[in-house]
Amino acid sequence: TPAALLALSNVEVLYSEVILALKGVSLQIPAGGCVALLGANGAGKSTTLKAISGVIDSEDGRVSGGSITFAGQPIHGLDPATVVRSGLVHVMEGRRVLQHMTVEQNLIIGGHMFPSARAMRAALERVYEAIPRLADLRKRTSGYLSGGEQQMLVIGRAIMAQPKLMLIDEPSLGLAPRMTDEVFAVLRKLRAQGLALLIVEQNTRVALEIADYGYVMESGRIVLEGQAQELRDNEDVREFYLGLD
Ligand code: ATP
Repeated sequence: TPAALLALSNVEVLYSEVILALKGVSLQIPAGGCVALLGANGAGKSTTLKAISGVIDSEDGRVSGGSITFAGQPIHGLDPATVVRSGLVHVMEGRRVLQHMTVEQNLIIGGHMFPSARAMRAALERVYEAIPRLADLRKRTSGYLSGGEQQMLVIGRAIMAQPKLMLIDEPSLGLAPRMTDEVFAVLRKLRAQGLALLIVEQNTRVALEIADYGYVMESGRIVLEGQAQELRDNEDVREFYLGLD
């Protein structure tokens, strides 16, 4: 295989030195690729994303085995801010926005450090161009946005850093179908601009529509992988692993 943008090889994660939440996870994402990470609650999907971005440390977890490389460099053990600077961002579950701040303040404050005001404006303009809805909402207080709008805001905040890869955890959680479609339309547009994506989703259907490749996890392991198209079409996979009828 050509050098992957992101490669995990036999990654293990230990929480509180006792709970082995990942038991040897290997996966790859090519530059510009879109990969879905699927599986039931507690399978280890969020833990996988946290291990990659380095935020696992703040949850009393650590990568206790294996390796993680991004753009050819080992990144396990780096602090999250360093990982972001290397071009890898993590949009966590739960849409944590600064409620009393405007959309634009959230993009500026919650985002990235810029060398100049001018560089920051340029980053804002790129976000507004990619997600025009945020331009319309720029002066609005973030706490009053709908769930879908808040999801777009946390995506916008992540792309302020001009990443090459975005890890995104449950973007459709709690959203009505129409809003889910809008959020995925944003992800598609970012993809078309060259951003690689690793998407954790309970909504298997939408995830496999956007992804080229999928991995299914169970009890801290990858139990199945394949082209998104194949996973979508395989009856057994649909029934036993993905809960689709
Ligand atoms: P969900 O969709 O429910 O988030 P998931 O597939 O993302 O599921 P994880 O959240 O990664 O699963 O959890 C994997 C396992 O690790 C679970 O058994 C969970 O209880 C455990 N776990 C997660 N976070 C911690 C933590 N901070 N400390 C100890 N155990 C944890």
